[in-house]
Amino acid sequence: MSAIDSLPPLREVIAAHGLRAKKSLGQNFLLDLNLTARIARVAGDLSRCDVLEVGPGPGGLTRGLLAEGARKVLAVEKDGRCLPALAEIQAAYPGRLEVIEGDALAVDPLAHLMPPIRVAANLPYNVGTELLVRWLTPKDWPPFWESLTLMFQREVAQRIVAQPGSKAYGRLAVLAQWRCDARIALDLPPEAFTPPPKIRSAVVHLTALPAPRFPADPEMLQKVTAAAFNQRRKMLRAALKGLAPDIQDRLRAAGIAPTARAEDVPLEGFCALARELAG
Ligand code: SAM
Repeated sequence: MSAIDSLPPLREVIAAHGLRAKKSLGQNFLLDLNLTARIARVAGDLSRCDVLEVGPGPGGLTRGLLAEGARKVLAVEKDGRCLPALAEIQAAYPGRLEVIEGDALAVDPLAHLMPPIRVAANLPYNVGTELLVRWLTPKDWPPFWESLTLMFQREVAQRIVAQPGSKAYGRLAVLAQWRCDARIALDLPPEAFTPPPKIRSAVVHLTALPAPRFPADPEMLQKVTAAAFNQRRKMLRAALKGLAPDIQDRLRAAGIAPTARAEDVPLEGFCALARELAG
């Protein structure tokens, strides 16, 4: 019998430990172990990796990550009620699961894990976006992680992978695609979760590129995209006029029509403009 088979079904775990989902913690649990195994497989070959899992809850995805062969999993969970359930998984996989009770935003993964490191999480959506932006904007690149496998509400997932010319294209797409390959790997209906959320969800898989696709200063690129997409309906010559007195010339030098709107500018254009404004 494998370790995962020695553990009780998640419905029993939840009942035994009184884990009634708390709305305030964004708790929508995945109880189907086939599904959590599929999500773990999206993260790729884990046998040579340590994995940071944020928000393990009762541990469905944690079990999937360990069964898929993760060298070690560091699970950071804010809700102390989940700790006994996670301790059962620790016992089934001796030495391979470390659990920290606390806020994922306050934990330094490098104090606990050895590279190469991959990240996997089914998180409350607000925390997920905040962590994603943080993971995408470290001081140095490449970051501490090789890949991120994250559950989002479908609309946010679409914003991460969006292409120019679509409504979903914005800062998140530029930020994610500048230094990562990003794809939607799985689509999940509300019924996949207990309790079911109101909206559909999707798993996004991001792989860190060794270097940015196009050179640009990260701070300038963020400044340009923030200004451009904050007023996305305006022409860029108006939306960006605060960035340089001769913005029309700068836009032309970057190969962008001053009358274009942010939504129409590809990643390469934003990087060219960031270089133009930094120089
Ligand atoms: N991963 C589990 C699953 O798939 O069934 C639970 C998913 S549930 C959507 C989100 C989990 O994240 C909850 O267990 C919640 O307590 C935890 N959580 C919420 N905010 C957190 C934070 N800031 N740091 C760590 N965990 C958090």
